[in-house]
Amino acid sequence: MAILALHGGAGGDGEWRGMSDLDPDRLVCMQTILNDLGPRLESGDLTALEAVTLAVEALEDEPLYNAGRGSVLAEDERIYMDASIMRGEDQAAGSVVNVERMRHPIRAANLLLKKGWPVMLNAGAADQFAHTNQLEHVDQTWLKTDLRTAQWNKWKSQNSRPGSTDEDDSAVLDHDLDSEEQEGMGTVGAVALDAHGHLAAATSTGGMTGKPVGRIGDTPIIGAGTWCDQTVAVSCTGVGEAFIRTCAAHELAVQFRQPDTSLLEASHRVLEMVNPMGGRGGLIAVSADGQVVMPFQTMLMYRGLWHNGALTTGIGEEIYSE
Ligand code: ASP
Repeated sequence: MAILALHGGAGGDGEWRGMSDLDPDRLVCMQTILNDLGPRLESGDLTALEAVTLAVEALEDEPLYNAGRGSVLAEDERIYMDASIMRGEDQAAGSVVNVERMRHPIRAANLLLKKGWPVMLNAGAADQFAHTNQLEHVDQTWLKTDLRTAQWNKWKSQNSRPGSTDEDDSAVLDHDLDSEEQEGMGTVGAVALDAHGHLAAATSTGGMTGKPVGRIGDTPIIGAGTWCDQTVAVSCTGVGEAFIRTCAAHELAVQFRQPDTSLLEASHRVLEMVNPMGGRGGLIAVSADGQVVMPFQTMLMYRGLWHNGALTTGIGEEIYSE
């Protein structure tokens, strides 16, 4: 048995209004990743750790997701990216915070995990660590896309709260500032169970449009945005501050340890704890006994699942089979 689940961020209020013009490309990206990595995970060619790293790297490369190239812009119009990763067998972890110059923040987090010390590196030191270890360096102009610049301009002119325009595709398709806003974030994540029964989780993000310089969300914080132990792997998405205040990803593991609690029950309990703190969002989780869940409280959560050879994707409530 092998399972690979992906998310591409949760967001939006109200009823799902159907796909935007950009959504099919977002789903194709997930399908390509799952078709490539799913069979390799199943056959034992890939560990869970490598599968989640490769999956998140591919999502970081897709400019329509808010991670790596295509990350959202902070208040000063620059990109600051966060990523973290964790392995279940030994709870080894790696995390980079507010990095500005690397193509794949998740690979730097993976390398920190493998080196074993320290677990987290910040900003310039993390960029330097990546450089020293021959990870690909890129500049801000390569990371920035027209979509994110348009969203930032819209955020700036409307003086909105941070994050309010993150998945508003109309910012690039239609510059009408009165058009309906979709709140969303577009962070990416992956959780996997490999053929040896091992688990891993990874999460990567540019954060929220207009975030203050120096802000750290939940994504690079082990136990908040990402958690993995021998029983469960978790990757979260949503307003990070609420996921930090509830230690959401770790809380799922705590809830799942309670007697007679399914992974679905545990995940709903966690989202119910996060919600009152202003942190509507979603998560993906897989357990060592083969349960997989992808709940969300927002209008949408981009998601994809490879489960024993079957590939499905979704954005709103409905699920698409390949
Ligand atoms: N959790 C991320 C953050 O707060 C945003 C997201 O999930 O989209 O930085």
